[in-house]
Formats: sequence, C-alpha cells, structure tokens
Amino acid sequence: MASSFYPPQRTLMGPGPSDVSARVLGALSRPTIGHLDPLFVTLMDEIKVLLQYAFQTTNELTLPVSAPGSAGMEACFVNLLSPGDKVIVCQNGVFGGRMKENVERCGATAIMVEDTWGEPVSVDKVIAAFDEHPDTCVLAFVHAETSTGVRSDAAALCKLATERNALSIVDAVTSLGGIELLVDEWGADAVYSGTQKCLSCVPGVSPVTFSPRAVERINNRGHKVQSWFLDMQLVMGYWGGSSKRAYHHTAPVNALYALHESLVMLQEEGLEAAHRRHRHNHLALVAGLEAMGLSMVVAPEYRLPQLNLVNIPEGVDDAALRSTLLEEFDLEIGAGLGALAGKAWRIGLMGFASSERNVITCLNALEAVLLRQHAAINPGKALNAAQAVLKG
Ligand SMILES: *Cc1c(COP(=O)(O)O)cnc(C)c1O
Repeated sequence: MASSFYPPQRTLMGPGPSDVSARVLGALSRPTIGHLDPLFVTLMDEIKVLLQYAFQTTNELTLPVSAPGSAGMEACFVNLLSPGDKVIVCQNGVFGGRMKENVERCGATAIMVEDTWGEPVSVDKVIAAFDEHPDTCVLAFVHAETSTGVRSDAAALCKLATERNALSIVDAVTSLGGIELLVDEWGADAVYSGTQKCLSCVPGVSPVTFSPRAVERINNRGHKVQSWFLDMQLVMGYWGGSSKRAYHHTAPVNALYALHESLVMLQEEGLEAAHRRHRHNHLALVAGLEAMGLSMVVAPEYRLPQLNLVNIPEGVDDAALRSTLLEEFDLEIGAGLGALAGKAWRIGLMGFASSERNVITCLNALEAVLLRQHAAINPGKALNAAQAVLKG
C-alpha cells in the first residue's frame, strides 16, 4: 500500500521552481471554496489588480492562465496567430526554439533570427529581418533566457515591433519579479510568465497580459482559436471585468490563494526593492564564485541576477557534484541545457530564494564538494568576497 509523501526541505537554487515561502504554502493549505463563490470572485479581482502591478500595466486582459508557463506561451501564440502569418522569432537559447514550435503549430511561418547561446538578441538582426519581411505581423522573443542566463533588450525590441506595425510576444517567465519589466512603457503586446520563478509561488499557473492592440487582434480573428481551453475570448467570460462570470473551467482555487499571497508579498516589498535585492545577492554570489576561481558564462552587462551561469571547471564530474549537493546538502542547482549541457551550472537566485542565506549556503556547499573532487579552486576566499558585497 502506498503511504503519504513527505518531501525533504530542499533549498531550490536551480532554474525553477524556486523556494516557496512558508507564508505562500500556508495560503495554499487554506480551505477550498467554490470557484464561483462570491468571495473567490473577489479574490480573482484582487489577483488581477496585483498582476497589473507586477506587470506594470493597466491592461484589462491580465489574468493567470490555469496551467504552467508553457500554457501561457501557447495562449499568446494561438490567440494572436492565424495560418499564413509571418512571425519573426528570436532564438538565443532553448525557449526561443519552443516559440518556433508554437508558431509552426499555428500554421504560421517562423522567420528565425538566431544569436549565440550566452549572448542577447541582436536588435540589428531583428531590424534586418523586418526590412526583408515587411509583412511580418508578430515579433516574438524571450526577455530572460533561462537556459543561458541572458537578458535581452525588451524595451528596444517592443519599440521596434510597434514601429513596424507588428505585435510583440514576450516570454517573461523568468523576468517577472526579478528584473525590470515595464509592459505599458515598453509597449509589449502579449506577455506571459510563470509562478514558480521569481514570484516564488507553487508551479502550475501562468500570469499573462494582453495590450488593447492585442485584444483588438483577438476580437477580429477570422476563425476560431484552435485551442478551446486557451481561447481568450472564452476565458474572458470567466475572468472578465463584468460581475457576471460564466463557467469555463474550474480555476485552481488553492493555487490561486498561493499566487495571491506571493503577489501581496511582492507588493509589500515593492517591485524596485525586489529588483535591488535580486541584484545585490547576485553580485555577492558572483564575487564569491570568482574569488573561488570560477568564471561566469555571460558578460556582466547581460547577466540575469536571478539566474547565474557558471563555467564548470576542467576535470569536475558535473553529475556527481550536483547529486552530492542534492543528497548531502539538500541543495538543488541547475544543469546546463542544450548547447551548455555539461559545460555550465545554472544557479538560481529567484524570488524568495534570492537571500543572503542562500548565497552563503551555496558558496559553502559548492566549495566543499569541489574540494572533495580535488578541483583546482582557491579555497577559503569565497565567503569573504561575498560578505564584502553583502555588508557593503
Ligand atoms: C520555465 C520557463 C518556461 C516554461 O515554464 P513552465 O512553467 O515550465 O511551463 C518558459 N520560458 C522560460 C524563459 C522559462 O524559464
């Protein structure tokens, strides 16, 4: 007979999920109520306002899709694209490749703009792609590439899309809550995110927001969205502004209690303060890693503070090191993905997990395990270097 599952208390410093606070877990375990209960409807309204704050937008169509970030991605593509449309897709890591998949499954054509993994999207290459394909109707790119730890210039890319009369689709799964994301100021049209990265909420929900231009495109579609579940015109009847809510699907009630709590925490801290905290802890981690003799993959100006790509030193057994960290130190860090598999670690400092405690924990554990593997590092230096930044 199976028995109850009791997971260990891990420290989650990979590419997500990140550590969920006791406060958010507490909210998750409150009594389930009906998803059309007037009190739940009030909560839905509040979540919408809190998401508008997180996204820095007044977009009416701002809501959490009841499925993970990948569903938010799919919601943006299936609602905005029609067969035959031309879409410029920027790829500088794993997630741009998924955008291409989405475009093609909508029967649209993806015009790929590729950049080296570890580098940001080249705005000049996107300009050249628009020059070559002036009939492009959507520009899609990843703001914070979680596979490489790189931030691209979302403001410039959104502005370019608007100038070329195209809509922008922005993957902000890892950026929301961790770095500046100004949906209205940048003129981003369809933006999707996730709960388990810098919001430090449980996985399984995807906040999305659509600009008035994007809503107009959705309302003027010539034919039905191929996905019934993700059809925003139907979802709007459930999450819409009017007091009359029509049943579409059962919202993940408790997961939304958790999302609400994590957004309340973000509002209490303030967006700018949250961004500063992410940056501060990132600088301390990098100082410690470099003092230890390790090197970073990404140039400083493009680094994501919430996801740190570290080159694996020569001779180190990557898989053995990560399993020792997990088994003996209850510490999860991420493996390299795609082109960076076996070459880099991905150390997350996302949301609630971006703390001084985690910076110190990670540096100590990593140093201990590297020493066991006789790696050529400088022992005894990382703590001082990190501390100097943390207390500086
Ligand atoms: C994690 C992630 C996703 C996918 O989110 P899921 O919640 O795993 O479906 C998409 N894009 C980026 C950039 C991500 O980091």
